[in-house]
Amino acid sequence: MSQTAQHNSMFEAVLARLDTAAKLMNLNPEVANILRNPARQVKVSLPVVMDNGSIRVFEGYRTVHSTHLGPSKGGIRYAMDVNADEVMALAAWMTFKCAVANLPYGGAKGGIQLDPRAHSVGELERITRAYALAMKDVFGVNRDIPAPDMGTSGREMAWILDELNKVNGEDAPGVITGKPISIGGSLGRDAATGRGVMINTLCALEKMGITAKGAKAVVQGFGNVGAHAARLLSEQGICVVGIGDHTASYYNANGIDITAAIAYTNSNNKVLKGFTGATEIPADQLLIQACDILVPAALQNVITSSNADAIKAKLIVEGANGPTTPEADPIINSKKIICVPDILANSGGVTVSYFEWVQNKAGYYWPESEVNSKHDLKMREAFEQVWAASQNYKTSLRIGAYIAALQKIEQGVRLKGAY
Ligand code: NAD
Repeated sequence: MSQTAQHNSMFEAVLARLDTAAKLMNLNPEVANILRNPARQVKVSLPVVMDNGSIRVFEGYRTVHSTHLGPSKGGIRYAMDVNADEVMALAAWMTFKCAVANLPYGGAKGGIQLDPRAHSVGELERITRAYALAMKDVFGVNRDIPAPDMGTSGREMAWILDELNKVNGEDAPGVITGKPISIGGSLGRDAATGRGVMINTLCALEKMGITAKGAKAVVQGFGNVGAHAARLLSEQGICVVGIGDHTASYYNANGIDITAAIAYTNSNNKVLKGFTGATEIPADQLLIQACDILVPAALQNVITSSNADAIKAKLIVEGANGPTTPEADPIINSKKIICVPDILANSGGVTVSYFEWVQNKAGYYWPESEVNSKHDLKMREAFEQVWAASQNYKTSLRIGAYIAALQKIEQGVRLKGAY
């Protein structure tokens, strides 16, 4: 589902938060208007030969939302519901996310409308290479730098890099991040978004006066973000009592052995269905189970005005992009639930993507311990800035995060000027 009940589009939902923050901080309306309009939107048609010899045409998108703080940065998503509106919303979130995390980047996002599970590896490779070629004038190491998102991984990044290297006649690994280590990826990138979720959780618990050890967490989504977040939270002594993916949801009040769950999915086509370390529950019950910390790390629009009131967690840490609809925000706030918003909570991924880009430019690679300690430092700094903005403006962490981002982007807009 990619639409909210009261907002016709995901991009409108982004603008709703932008407007709230802009009003509170008294943002120059001209700056707000620039940010309401993405800088560049590209849509391509990709005719690709399927394994059976037939030709299918796929829709590919790339939106560059802003380049005011640096080259644009953002992932590539493969899913059936990818569309121009969703890509635009995700691109705008990247602008705010990079600013929140103090990265020298603007925001972008891309995607292809397809079900990655419905294609062979060969078909996926041909579709991905066709997309990379079609976007050769958009992507660039100092222009627009893609990365993985839902439905893509290091494998697709390697194909895109290879295609761009061929067409540009040079090896420029920094043109894309989230690459496998052997071709210029960064140690620590795979787990980085989950690590950012863990650090943000610890920061918020400290402010709330809750001890991490023994606190109970529920994590929705068991892919890149969810599985690493669950593992890293449990390594901090947090008791993960609920997990779920698109195939099944599980609850165990005594805590789930996350190492065992990861080992199970690794041997079960990456899905949880059939896991025996907890009791299976209906999917719509997972988010409303008793817990202290709720980590939605799968889809957008899962916390809505229909279920927000039933949430029992004291803290929500948004691993996914856009898991909470604007209509659910006031319900969450009135219940005094602290919500670390997506543009802060899942910014660990783009932070380590930035480190990957820096290492590619320098041609010098850091040990994982260095990546992790630099990440943790940046994440704590970003959390403190957002916390301070929310306190100063007496608002939620979400609007505080938008204000912290807009203060930086406003400077970029003013200093770079207009025609
Ligand atoms: P992924 O494809 O690796 O995993 C997605 C997970 O969500 C899978 O476990 C899948 O089964 C689950 N899921 C799908 N539909 C579901 C449903 N209806 N109910 C419950 N679970 C469902 O994707 P990911 O990279 O982990 O991304 C997850 C979210 O995090 C997305 O919103 C993405 O935009 C965001 N995000 C990812 C990164 C990153 O570095 N990968 C960075 C920032 C934000």
